Amino acid sequence: MNYYDQHLHTYFSFDSEENFEDYLICEPEYFVSTDHFDLNNPASDGKDDIPDYPAYIEKLRTLREEYPTKFLRGIEIGVVPGQEKQIVDYLMEHPYDLKLVSIHQNGHFDYMDGKVLTMDKFQTADEYFSQMLTVLERFPEGDVLTHFDYGLRRLSFTPDELAEHFEGKLTRIFKKVIEREMAFELNAKSFLKYGNYKLYRYAVPLYQSLGGKLFTLGSDAHVAEDYQLGFKEMSQLLEKCHVDQLLVIQGKDRSLTSIPTL
Ligand SMILES: [Zn+2]
Ligand SMILES: [Zn+2]
Repeated sequence: MNYYDQHLHTYFSFDSEENFEDYLICEPEYFVSTDHFDLNNPASDGKDDIPDYPAYIEKLRTLREEYPTKFLRGIEIGVVPGQEKQIVDYLMEHPYDLKLVSIHQNGHFDYMDGKVLTMDKFQTADEYFSQMLTVLERFPEGDVLTHFDYGLRRLSFTPDELAEHFEGKLTRIFKKVIEREMAFELNAKSFLKYGNYKLYRYAVPLYQSLGGKLFTLGSDAHVAEDYQLGFKEMSQLLEKCHVDQLLVIQGKDRSLTSIPTL
């Protein structure tokens, strides 16, 4: 099996209008969208953003009739501490084959909001990583920890600053990821669009030094042009770190497949 993009958005996300058909022009062997689930989302004025599950399942059913591609059900779950039970209950009734776990917001603001520019960056990052650790400790669902640096995208940190101020917390976070057999995602939005590749150059070896072996690549595309964005650059970093396989999650089935050669 060739590796395929395990993080992308369609019109089932509040912040994307992209159609499946535009992603499917190349008729990939497998396809999974991971649309946003964020309760009480400040990016939507406090609304619960939940992908329309019946419509999603119906869409996948019709696509299966039109394409040779195998379609999986995916979701990107943003978690704020306190929401764990509600989300677990929801997922019991709405099964998915791939569940990404993300920290996007804290109940008051999204970490990408301009508001963070007016705040102390070390304190903001500290709160962000604390929230991530709490979520990993209390929220039992999820296959992949996405964009570990989401809360830093607007704060311009250097790897040295991360090491000096947050290595302890990141160590606890990555140990939790490893203990839970989740994968560490290299996220193309972070890596390329927000220029955080240097933070990944620091974080990947740290995660490996603790025993971490499971990686995924995600474009985080919100438009079809970004499908598999950054795969070349992110694969190059992993190869430098002597990683030659990526994790693919297909419900209860997990497999390792070669890093794409592009
Ligand atoms: Zn995200
Ligand atoms: Zn995303």
